[in-house]
Amino acid sequence: MSILVVGSVALDSVKTPFGNAPNALGGSGTYFSVSASFFTKVRLVAVVGSDFPPEHIKLLEKRKIDISGLKKVAGKTFRWKGEYGFDLNNAKTLDTQLNVFAQFKPEIPPNYADSEYVFLANIDPELQLDVLKQVKRPRLVACDTMNFWISSKKAALKKTLKHVDILVINEAEVRQLADETNLVKAARCIRSWGPKSLVVKRGEYGVLLFGGGQVFGAPAYPLEKIFDPTGAGDTFAGGFMGYLAKCGSLADADVRRAIIMGSVMASFDVEDFSLNRLVRLKQGEISRRFKEFKTLTHFDVI
Ligand code: AMP
Repeated sequence: MSILVVGSVALDSVKTPFGNAPNALGGSGTYFSVSASFFTKVRLVAVVGSDFPPEHIKLLEKRKIDISGLKKVAGKTFRWKGEYGFDLNNAKTLDTQLNVFAQFKPEIPPNYADSEYVFLANIDPELQLDVLKQVKRPRLVACDTMNFWISSKKAALKKTLKHVDILVINEAEVRQLADETNLVKAARCIRSWGPKSLVVKRGEYGVLLFGGGQVFGAPAYPLEKIFDPTGAGDTFAGGFMGYLAKCGSLADADVRRAIIMGSVMASFDVEDFSLNRLVRLKQGEISRRFKEFKTLTHFDVI
């Protein structure tokens, strides 16, 4: 089953305590697509400028991502500049240049309209809603956002959320969005606006799912070397949605496994800058780490 994703395709300049990567491939749509492409077919809707390097297009094609919805227009590609200190959980945004995204109106190619799974990656919430208006009735709509949009377009975001089944969002942004410090209360508040489930990304502390009748927690995979956390959230979402689309079920147990698969994919992403680790990743490595998560989280009640 195919997943339609709309998000940013970017050139990121990232600095971490372990090095820096100027003008590297990034973007919420990019990380999501590459991650989900390990599980199912992905259709990407985004825009890049005339400065977008052809080798990045080749990378997406190599992952068999359908890029007929990726527009190339005159102008500069979206650029994000961020820095991480020793606390790798929090990115400090130094600069955001929307560039070609400022005028972007997503057009869903006719062959994308029947997508059963839709992921609205982190972009302007008005564009996210535009996309939903152009698709037939999807089976599952998930969405991400960030502080940039919560502070500048909260009303538009709340409008989009009415049509969203699962909101996948960072812990600090849950609090900011709900204007509530307690995570359980904040999750309840946001779920009353539309999303049936909330997946809270907590960086190196893992993920919490508030959904249906369950609350489920997963740790992050304990890694000795983390180089660049950029894209971990989108890579998580790609593994999560990719797994759900592949198994075709939304039963509680499958959603739990999808949370673990998202965590597996995110753990690979942070092992290198940009998408470098994901590009080298092999299916065998994914299944091995998925099994390791079982050992990591299993305990017996005696
Ligand atoms: P994350 O998974 O949260 O680490 O997402 C990182 C990616 O989000 C980077 O590759 C950026 O290019 C992208 N990004 C940063 N700010 C924005 C924004 N305001 N809108 C869309 N994408 C963004």
